[in-house]
Amino acid sequence: MNIEISNIANLPSRFGTFKVKAFKEGEKEHLVIYKENLDSIPIVRVHSECLTGDAIGSLKCDCRDQLEYALKLSEETNGMVIYLRQEGRNIGLLNKINAYALQDTGLDTIEANHQLGFEADERTYEIVTYILEHFNIKKIKLLTNNPDKINSISDIEIVERIPIIMEANEHNIDYIQTKKDAMGHLF
Ligand SMILES: [Zn+2]
Repeated sequence: MNIEISNIANLPSRFGTFKVKAFKEGEKEHLVIYKENLDSIPIVRVHSECLTGDAIGSLKCDCRDQLEYALKLSEETNGMVIYLRQEGRNIGLLNKINAYALQDTGLDTIEANHQLGFEADERTYEIVTYILEHFNIKKIKLLTNNPDKINSISDIEIVERIPIIMEANEHNIDYIQTKKDAMGHLF
């Protein structure tokens, strides 16, 4: 992997005072948000970009709630959020909006992806191991409901899985149920 790594900068935010470091992997630029005084076995959240949720506050998913929860928890526990730029479960923004258009006609999130020729989830996590090794982190507590993330982080010991539980709303209840029933997410 040819990865370009930025310098470390301060990022005061509404969720806490963090350090940030960017990792450029080909066309994709990821961001690591972390506390200077990292815990010896930090709580780590791996968050995949969701422009509509993270920035616009879309109620179709629970991404923004999860991101805010993870940043607050990082501030409280000296943890880390790895923000991966793989929009729309890695099908990109344009395809994601096309999938939303199909969902408007009654398809669920998985059926819509399949109709567009994609897997239900196209995300990958190889870069996570690279980033954790870069920070010399050998053990983590992983904040996730997604078993794929647990299985895909190699060479790092996950000593504990911490569930991330968000309240559903009327727009995302079906989406969250689909993640649980059809995609094996744990709660
Ligand atoms: Zn989302």
